[in-house]
Parts: sequence; structure tokens; C-alpha cells
Amino acid sequence: MSLTAESVWNNCLEFIKDNIQPQAYKTWFEPIIAVKLTENALSIQVPSKFFYEWLEEHYVKILKVALTKELGKNAKLVYIIKMENTYGNKQPFTEKIPSSNRSAVKSQDVDIPLNNKSPELRNPFVIPGIRNVKIESQLNPNYSFDNFLEGDSNRLARSAGLAVANKPGGTSFNPLLIFGGVGLGKTHLAHAIGVDIKDKYPEKTVLYISAEKFTQQYIDAIKKNNRNDFIHFYQIIDVLIIDDVQFLSGKSGTQDVFFHIFNHLHQNGKQVVLTSDKAPVDMQDIEQRLLSRFKWGLSAELQTPDFETRVSILKNKLYRDGVEMPEEIIEYVAKNIKSNVRELEGAIISLIAQSSFNKKEITIDLARIIVEKFVKNTKREVSIDYIQKVVSDYFQMDIDTLQSKTRKRHIVQARQLAMFFAKKFTKASLASIGSQIGKRDHATVLHACKTVDNLSSTDKQFRKYVEDITKKLSV
Ligand code: ADP
Ligand code: MG
Repeated sequence: MSLTAESVWNNCLEFIKDNIQPQAYKTWFEPIIAVKLTENALSIQVPSKFFYEWLEEHYVKILKVALTKELGKNAKLVYIIKMENTYGNKQPFTEKIPSSNRSAVKSQDVDIPLNNKSPELRNPFVIPGIRNVKIESQLNPNYSFDNFLEGDSNRLARSAGLAVANKPGGTSFNPLLIFGGVGLGKTHLAHAIGVDIKDKYPEKTVLYISAEKFTQQYIDAIKKNNRNDFIHFYQIIDVLIIDDVQFLSGKSGTQDVFFHIFNHLHQNGKQVVLTSDKAPVDMQDIEQRLLSRFKWGLSAELQTPDFETRVSILKNKLYRDGVEMPEEIIEYVAKNIKSNVRELEGAIISLIAQSSFNKKEITIDLARIIVEKFVKNTKREVSIDYIQKVVSDYFQMDIDTLQSKTRKRHIVQARQLAMFFAKKFTKASLASIGSQIGKRDHATVLHACKTVDNLSSTDKQFRKYVEDITKKLSV
């Protein structure tokens, strides 16, 4: 029976599987494809350069033992790295390619003699001097632990954050995922961790980045054909803080690259801190393998602060700003703004501003007016544009489609829902709603509102649409 690349590789896999952790096997060996066997050289295809480096760094010994068992002591392993930037030809390229035209080929061989590993060959991809590149942390020094007031609502997250800051990568809170609703302090806490680490370990490379910016960078990297530089950049970071990871939902390319970066950092004992507006179980359109990574460490929730905490947050803010305010007013504000610390701070800032601009004394009446305005203001943020955006996002169409003249049922329904919510959540007239949603007249809007009313009492699916969108519009 003659040997094939596949049979040789399968035997190697069996041996490897028995000797390493199942998780590691799954991550690092399952994605490999055996491509070619010539005499004593087996060629395997790996998904990226990073993958190759990882195998070389961690599994070269076991690979050598396994392959030597199969092919004898002259066994050689050839890596074929699948390039992401592909042009034309789907055949694996099987010659060595000069680095100048690397991006123009599908794949690249790295020929590694297992017996005499020369250091230059080991890792031909390191960009010279990259370790000397100084990375700006992008941290906001105003967000510290000191001014992140503790309360029942945030105790777990805050102390996990402190533990991580004391020993980055050295606790079981890796990754640390901080989740919670809007304005509850996720970004603040994420910065505080980074700031504290920079303070205690100035030599560590810390990077704070929003998931949105991360995605943008990745897209740019793809456009410029330097996905690998992008990955390398992130792999040299000691503490990676990514804010609002829910933004990655549905973006499978970015999720994929983040998965690899995450694995690299995690396995090298580097710290990862993530924030999200949802618990991992509730995240949608995030790949399972990534979600399971999120759950490896600790998920800590930031809940809405209780009254006492709200009062101390306000007092702390006033103290830092050097402003005095009667106790009853502080309590009044804390009692009336409950669900969002950002709004709480906003109200107190307008109160201070009002009183100093108008030279008015800060009284309960002034506080009442401002809190009312503030609460109303945040409600008034729902505009017809915003409603159209939420509705079209919900049905995964763009606003142009929603506004188009088409009679397709699902588009008509989406349009009618947008009109219905515009009527419900804004003070705009029927005529004005109609003109903003696809240049319709007031009768069309009226008809839409009636139809939505009818359908939501007769059609269960439709009622769910109304409930879902209502929820989205009222956060
Ligand atoms: P999120 O990222 O969850 O939307 P932020 O971190 O931006 O929220 O917080 C909103 C505002 O509330 C920030 O100004 C932040 O400093 C403040 N804040 C939130 N929680 C606290 C807290 N426990 N103590 C002091 N300030 C807080
Ligand atoms: Mg935030």
C-alpha cells in the first residue's frame, strides 16, 4: 500500500491528538490540510503565517516525532501558507517566492528541514524592528479606578478589573468581559484598567481600541494587502482592551482575525479585556468559537447603580469640579435619573451651567426644570431618520429600499412600521412624516398607522416586529 499525504498526515494526527490538549488540537491541528507527499517531505497547508509560527514555536517537537515515525529520520515538513490576498490561480503555488511579489500569489512554501533548524528559517516573517515600535495606548487618564465609584451594581466588575490591573494575564479573568447597558461605565472601567496597568507596569504595551475602530483598521489592512502586518501589530501587545465588541456581530472577517489574535495573546499569557452591551449568551451573529473564548475568563456585569451609588457618583463629580450643592438637590437628581450614569452626570452639569450662566441659585425648582428637560431631551432624540434607520436595520434593508416605490410586501410593511413609529414617537404631523418617509401623503401615513394597528392585533409575527422595534427605539 502506497503512502499518501493524507494517510501520513492522519497517522501523525492520531499521535498528536493523544499527546496534546483537546482544545489545542482542535485549534491548531484540525484546520491543517495535508497537500502533498514527495519521498520524505510532507507538505501541509496552514491558514496563515501566524498559524505557521505558532506551530513552529509550540509544536515543532511533536510534529517532528510524529513525522519521523511515519517517514523515517530524513522526514521533512513543508508548510504551505494560504495567503489571504488572492489573485487568480487557485492552485497552491509550490515554489519559493521572492518576498517582493509575495502578495501576488496564492500561497507560499516555507521549507523547514526538521533536523537542522537554522534560526533565520524559523521565522522569516518578523518585521525587523517591530518590537521597537512604540504603541500609543490611546488611554484616557481621566478614567481611573479612583473616580469609578464602587457600589453593589459594579462591585464584581470593578474588583475583577483591579485584580487584572494588578496582575495582567496572571489571573483567571482572561479575558475579562465587562458587559452592561448604555452609560453604565464600561468604557470608563476599561480605561481605568489600562491606566492602572500603565502606571504599575510602564514597560507593558497596552492598547485601548473600540471594536469599531479595530474593524476599520482591519478593512484598511485588507485593502492595502497587509493583513499580516495588522495581525503582527496586535500580537505584540501585552494588554489588549477592546471596547464594545457587540460591534463585531455579523462581521465574520473581523471576527476571524480577532479570533487568531485572541488565541495568540491568550496562549502567551497576555491580557485581554473586552466590553459589550450584552452578555455573551445574548450576543447575536458572533461566531460560536469566539463566544466560547469570551466565556473562558470572567463575564462581569455592570448593573444600574442603586440610589446610594448614584448619590456618591454625583457627589464625587461635584467635589472634583469644586462645586457645592445642597444635599436635597443632589438627592432629587439621583432619585429621578436612574438608568444611565452618563445622563446623571449630564443633568448635574447642566444644573451647574444654568445656575452659573444665569447667576441663579441652585434650587429644587431649577433642578426640577432641568431634570424634566433632560429626561425629555433624551426622549426627543428619537427622530424620524433614526426610526427609519432602526426599522430598516431590523429588516436588514437599506433606507433607500424602505423609501422606494416598490409594492413588495415585506418592504411595504417595513415602511408602514416606520410611519407608525414616527407617529407614535415624534410630534411630527402626518404630512411631515409622509414627506420624510419616501415622499408619501398624509393619507398614506394614516392608512399605515391603521394597518399596523390591525395587523398587530391579528398577526403574531407582526406583533413581534412591533414589540422588537419598540424595544430598540426606547433604549
Ligand atoms: P458605557 O461605556 O457603559 O456606555 P461610560 O463608561 O462611557 O459608559 O460611562 C458614562 C459616564 O458615566 C462616564 O462619564 C463615566 O465616567 C460615568 N460613570 C459610570 N459609572 C461610574 C461610576 N461607577 N463612578 C463614576 N462615574 C461613572
Ligand atoms: Mg462605552
